[in-house]
Amino acid sequence: MGVRFGSIASGSAGNALLVEVGKTRVMVDCGLGLGVARERIAQRGWEPESIAAILVTHEHSDHISGVEKFARKHGTKVIASYGTLSFLGDALNPEQYVEIDGHQAFAVDDVWVEPYCVPHDAREPLQYVLGDGNARLGILTDVGRSTPHIEHTLSDCDALILECNHDEEMLMGGPYQYALKKRVIGPFGHLSNVAAASLLGRLQRARLKHLIAAHLSQQNNTEELARKALAEVMGCSNDWVGVATQEEGFDWRDI
Ligand SMILES: [Zn+2]
Ligand SMILES: [Zn+2]
Repeated sequence: MGVRFGSIASGSAGNALLVEVGKTRVMVDCGLGLGVARERIAQRGWEPESIAAILVTHEHSDHISGVEKFARKHGTKVIASYGTLSFLGDALNPEQYVEIDGHQAFAVDDVWVEPYCVPHDAREPLQYVLGDGNARLGILTDVGRSTPHIEHTLSDCDALILECNHDEEMLMGGPYQYALKKRVIGPFGHLSNVAAASLLGRLQRARLKHLIAAHLSQQNNTEELARKALAEVMGCSNDWVGVATQEEGFDWRDI
């Protein structure tokens, strides 16, 4: 059936990923204002109304700030764990909220969705592998540490969007308050370039054709450092590794 994906924003100021499988379109997270989200979706050639569902990873504002506004305007379903939904309000019709079991794969029309649990400081955070039942796009942002469950789930993906949040030296020498630094590097915070590279090194990667570094900190990382860390594991040129940016995300890719 084919899988197409592209991001319209990635980072601590907002995240949203667009995925199309067959005739079905979904968005993963919507941490953007309604106007910005609609504008960037239109720039990618989509009508906002064509999005069947928003899969939400967790309740931090860079992932949910636009979810209910978007869903209310466009009648979109909002799919998330019990813990994440418990944080959202009651702005929508009750049937628009879909609670999922984080251990149970399911379909949104043509999109096959495998949710999986990750350690992050939210109520019940999930990440997702999306595909057509054959091709697999693995998504992992907002995770403090890798786990055997994560590495099992993300092995044998055709495409991977992987958090490279910070360079540890830049973070520790940078402007954040000490408490925030501790949160970011902690076991329920975010992956450094080194941690992301080490996770990548433990995956089965024979099928991997697309690799994108995501959720980069604008203060505490650079595109070059993230690319270099992942490219060393892949044995590829730095340019082969994509980067999702805060302002533009990344352009369409096809599996
Ligand atoms: Zn985030
Ligand atoms: Zn988060």
